[in-house]
Amino acid sequence: MTTALPTADRPRPSTIAIALAGIRERIAASARRAGRAPDAVTLVAVSKFHPQSSVLEALQAGQTVFGENRVQEAAEKFPSLRADWPAMRLHVIGGLQTNKALEAVRIADMIESLDRPSLADALARAADRAGRLPDLLVQVNTGDESQKSGIPRAQADSFITACRQRFGHAVRGLMCIPPAEEDPMPHFRYLADLARTHGLAMLSMGMSADFEAAIAAGATHVRVGSAIFGHRPASPPNGAIPPARLAAPES
Ligand SMILES: *Cc1c(COP(=O)(O)O)cnc(C)c1O
Repeated sequence: MTTALPTADRPRPSTIAIALAGIRERIAASARRAGRAPDAVTLVAVSKFHPQSSVLEALQAGQTVFGENRVQEAAEKFPSLRADWPAMRLHVIGGLQTNKALEAVRIADMIESLDRPSLADALARAADRAGRLPDLLVQVNTGDESQKSGIPRAQADSFITACRQRFGHAVRGLMCIPPAEEDPMPHFRYLADLARTHGLAMLSMGMSADFEAAIAAGATHVRVGSAIFGHRPASPPNGAIPPARLAAPES
């Protein structure tokens, strides 16, 4: 006779834990198909608009790296988790307003959206004041879309060079968000070539819909939100009115 516990008494993995396991498997399979080591790709779990309880579920499932595109929301959800989860890493991934630079520098381990000279100035001042400088990725607007964050293609070379002169090794790589209606692959390849030209190691590219293609093109970081946490609620947890998704900041 077996004496199995009633199903309800056994700890069951959460929906988020199951989704994470599935994404990690797909990342590993894509990496292997590309002849790359599965651990060469870091999963950035994008928890924007989802409550801190969802972040906690992901942490409990072994996820350590998170992405948020609004600094205010990130500041409400993440710093209080640091004490219990010292391995946790927070990436700021969205278009960043210069007046949020100081808060971003205080709370982020990486800022993936360095995309214009005024923001470079603000981050340099913020790093002086905060006494710390997160890792930085230069975001490139590979589709030259007017509504999107990122340095335009034509200015990317000189901007990357200037950022490296100013921030040195803190500049770790490049990030892009290809146009929604296009084949992302040419954009991923362009970004990979640009990183190679500049001797930069990190490439943050690929989201829920296209992270496997991004890994084939060399992504070291994939930013996956809805495939892990489900569809985003219509407004962020604090009830603030969300800015247009992925829209460029004003300054
Ligand atoms: C929201 C967001 C993502 C995640 O998008 P999903 O399609 O939900 O995976 C990735 N990168 C950035 C910059 C985002 O704002």
